[in-house]
Amino acid sequence: MAILKIYESTSPVLRHKAKPVRKVDDAIRKLAADMLETMREAPGVGLAGPQIGRAARIIVVEYDDDEFSLINPTITWSSKETAMAEEGCLSIPTLYGDVERALEVRLTATDMRNKRVVIEADDWLARIFQHEIDHLDGILFTDRMAPGAPLRTVSANADSDEEI
Ligand code: ZN
Repeated sequence: MAILKIYESTSPVLRHKAKPVRKVDDAIRKLAADMLETMREAPGVGLAGPQIGRAARIIVVEYDDDEFSLINPTITWSSKETAMAEEGCLSIPTLYGDVERALEVRLTATDMRNKRVVIEADDWLARIFQHEIDHLDGILFTDRMAPGAPLRTVSANADSDEEI
């Protein structure tokens, strides 16, 4: 496995709509494994293709005991109920801001065995998926903040390894 370069928000790849991945093969499995290693090293809890310079719809997420490596994830349902919480991003180092997100989501994706999966997530895991899937569409958390809401240089959370 290898640690990949994490691209920052000034890189054009972070602003492009990523292309679907046609199928999972050994190259995609290696990429996902490298992304997981890169995410853990950072450390973070999620990483999307554009963040390592690949305009491909692939994400990795690790939260609590759950680990996901997925291609072509699509949110198929979002709860009307939302929650506001502070986010950071591995591509926007040292800046944090409050973002309103759906409290629960359901998504479909393809896993590393080429199986179609349906995932239901809530709270922080739902937030991570929404943040990562936004990356695949060239959207950063700062785009989702309320107009005029402040970016902070120090996280309000004691737990600082939440960058996604
Ligand atoms: Zn991010």
